[in-house]
Amino acid sequence: MVKKMDEKYWERYARHLPLEDWGKEGQEKIAKSKVVIMGVGGLGTVIATQLAAIGVGTIRIVDRDTVSLTNLARQYLYREEEEGHAKVEVAEKRLLEINPRIKVEAISKNITRSTIPEIIEGMDVIVDGLDSFKTRMIVNEEAYGQGIPYVFAGAVGWTANATTFTFEEGTPCLECLFEGVDDEELPKCESAGVHPSILGIIASVEVAETVRLLQGQETRLKNNLLFVDLKELRFDKLQIAPRKDCEVCHGGKGESGYLMKSGNEEVRKMSINEEEYNITELCGRATFVVSAKESPDWNFGKVIEKLRKKYKKISAFGTAAVTVFYSEEPKIEVSIVKGGTVTIKGLEEREEALKVFKKVISKHIARNKKK
Ligand SMILES: [Zn+2]
Repeated sequence: MVKKMDEKYWERYARHLPLEDWGKEGQEKIAKSKVVIMGVGGLGTVIATQLAAIGVGTIRIVDRDTVSLTNLARQYLYREEEEGHAKVEVAEKRLLEINPRIKVEAISKNITRSTIPEIIEGMDVIVDGLDSFKTRMIVNEEAYGQGIPYVFAGAVGWTANATTFTFEEGTPCLECLFEGVDDEELPKCESAGVHPSILGIIASVEVAETVRLLQGQETRLKNNLLFVDLKELRFDKLQIAPRKDCEVCHGGKGESGYLMKSGNEEVRKMSINEEEYNITELCGRATFVVSAKESPDWNFGKVIEKLRKKYKKISAFGTAAVTVFYSEEPKIEVSIVKGGTVTIKGLEEREEALKVFKKVISKHIARNKKK
């Protein structure tokens, strides 16, 4: 909803035009686009600021919260004298100051099953600035239903993760990865704190993914979960896959195939035990992905605790995923996502990968299955 593409318009975006994959055409696409940002807190304010400045035609912001003093150290859209004001109102005003050529729609509503259809209707991309998995699951379900790509991210402490759900065939949804994640079990920013820079990093990744989607390009986080650990300054990407028993994207029945692609690279599907797992080799990368066909019914928090004691931990995101150092020589890293996807890096042979998988994790799944 950009008003006029005059000389001043193009001068404003002059640094976008020489960018590879962007150019005039990319800018025009952005100008015509509509993006909804769920939450304008630590992540959402950074996302909104960037998307407004970039020139996204219509930005819809959704938040029911008010500005508080504890927000100001990282939520740069708000001022001290605005304490108590509705976040969306202040954000709307400030975003239009940053870029008067765009349209901002402020929605001060609770995100629930009944409000979500209208909140995301007609949008091209949904961007996550939320802090609750319960709410994210509602967004995921409706995004899948309406077929709108959903850029997910979460951050706490020094760590963050992000992925992009395009809902295309052979790609997972949020439920596939994090079924049963309980907000109560996760560390919260209130108690664990949050580094403002991790918010800036992961929100910027979300914006970059959003821009790629709006410009009709392949995203970088489709089928990949990005982990960032600012303390160690580590960036890890794990391959992720849909789960055949996912209630949201597979109707709990499992109709869809499992062949995964990583970029242009075809990935071989190899079944070791059709009943319970799929093992996939990522060609030429000494990496295997093992996924449980059914989401394991386990207390993942306890599993992580056990793994932490036994192995050297590399990074973790709350109680939703963890990466451990399995061995130094050869260097083997194992990453586990709550939904049952395990990535094993550093092995060439699938039998070896399977051994590692069994040693680290499969007994937890097996034990639960016997119940
Ligand atoms: Zn799913």
